[in-house]
Amino acid sequence: MTQETGGFAALGLNPNIVAAVIATGYEEPSAIQQQSIPIILEGHDMIGQAQTGTGKTAAFALPILNRIDPSKREPQALILAPTRELALQVATAFETYSKQMPGVTVVAVYGGAPMGPQLKAIRNGAQIVVATPGRLCDHLRRDEKVLATVNHLVLDEADEMLKLGFMDDLEVIFKAMPESRQTVLFSATLPQSIRAIAERHLKDPKHVKIQSKTQTVTAIEQAHLLVHADQKTSAVLRLLEVEEFDALIAFVRTKQATLDLASALEAKGYKAAALNGDIAQNQRERVIDSLKDGRLDIVVATDVAARGLDVPRITHVFNVDMPYDPESYVHRIGRTGRAGREGRALLLVTPRERRMLQVIERVTGQKVAEVRLPNAQAVLDARIKKLTNGLAPLVGDAEATHGDLLDRLTADIGCSPRALAAALLRKATNGQALTLEAVEREQPLVPTSAPRERTTGDRPERGDRERRAPMPLGEGRARCRTALGARDGIAAKNLLGAILNEGGLAREAIGRIQVRDSFSLVELPEEGLEKLLAKLKDTRVAGKQLKLRRYRED
Ligand code: AMP
Repeated sequence: MTQETGGFAALGLNPNIVAAVIATGYEEPSAIQQQSIPIILEGHDMIGQAQTGTGKTAAFALPILNRIDPSKREPQALILAPTRELALQVATAFETYSKQMPGVTVVAVYGGAPMGPQLKAIRNGAQIVVATPGRLCDHLRRDEKVLATVNHLVLDEADEMLKLGFMDDLEVIFKAMPESRQTVLFSATLPQSIRAIAERHLKDPKHVKIQSKTQTVTAIEQAHLLVHADQKTSAVLRLLEVEEFDALIAFVRTKQATLDLASALEAKGYKAAALNGDIAQNQRERVIDSLKDGRLDIVVATDVAARGLDVPRITHVFNVDMPYDPESYVHRIGRTGRAGREGRALLLVTPRERRMLQVIERVTGQKVAEVRLPNAQAVLDARIKKLTNGLAPLVGDAEATHGDLLDRLTADIGCSPRALAAALLRKATNGQALTLEAVEREQPLVPTSAPRERTTGDRPERGDRERRAPMPLGEGRARCRTALGARDGIAAKNLLGAILNEGGLAREAIGRIQVRDSFSLVELPEEGLEKLLAKLKDTRVAGKQLKLRRYRED
């Protein structure tokens, strides 16, 4: 659990790193950060069991930044990541956290981009190198001294690296670094293969695992929906149309996100306000009072700011950003269903965060069912229902009091009562979209839920990668052949990993991979094939040249 006071400053980080983190909008360290940062700062080797979404990147990036010497212009820390997307993401995180550390440079080293500029950036004195193993090995083949000054190594998502067949590359990389280095390994799972690496290459490592106790939350109806990170606001707006809520609390991760979402909701006419750690105590109390008495209906809050918040009117909790751990999920959704009332909790899950959802389900011992984002028809039905509920009580004796006026107006205007009622409705609804076409135009459908859809930058998840159904050679695909096969110790995942990283392709671009004893076939996009094959010219898999060629079946 996170601690009550002290935040990042109490963990022993340099003030300039703390300042950059606070400027990013983080209010307090997540559980994995709380535990890992002091250990890494002290120079210990460490094994951290954590998945994406727990804040693991900052858990190693902050103490590593603390431990490097910005005045030395040479590589000092190496972070290995399984894919180029993750490598870029980690490099960006390092850049963000080192904003107030003059002289610190970060370089991302991955396949699919020219090697020259990467090597140049390393030689120019980038202290932090974030790399995929395959490409880094290519650099080592050109210059075996490239890692000679690195004294901090982080293996991020180590289990994924092994799944992609990077074991041999890792061994080459370990050898190219000083033995005296500090090594930190993060992995969502700790299978035997990872334990074996730790045994061989880590020195007396400390273990960090977020222990989760089972917690029950039976009174609250829970559901989740899959949504891409950049579509969360539109998803929230759509959900608000159909959910019948009294008061609602929406949880996000950063101060900025509280402000952004609250103003998007206000712009749509909701009575919403932000609640974050920057808001002074008296203002905070005003916000909570307003939520209690109905002057506000929605509060967008960070975990810290919502602590102790007890408002019986709250019928809904929206977890717009994933909580860091199951405990804080349980804590958040406990804001609803107060005093024996019914509550509903919705969790937005981006494709990368599905594992975290599984952890939550395991810890709470409950399935959090998937629901779909309401479609245009559901939004329209909800709008009409609201209108009906609003108008029905007004009908009462209106005909007795205003019937004659209606007759006179229709006669004066020369229109039917239906035409006049329609005009009045248009005015009363302020031009709100009340036909299916109009709702569709106003709220273009957010594509979600399809299990294989991903945001750019999202990595394919394990199930996708491993259990992908074979597909026939489709239109626009070409079959390619390599002379490497099972007898060379090749598995489909090795080929996949190499082509993804070196070719810079999206997972979807690669079709079926068939590994035979003495050769393998891979389906690749026809478009740009020659260029891709040229890019893969020097690629090696399991230490051997891939030499992928177009394969003619006739
Ligand atoms: P990660 O698990 O490293 O992929 O991080 C998941 C997300 O949480 C990233 O978008 C981070 O920017 C964000 N994050 C990490 N640590 C914190 C924190 N202490 N407070 C708020 N957001 C954080």
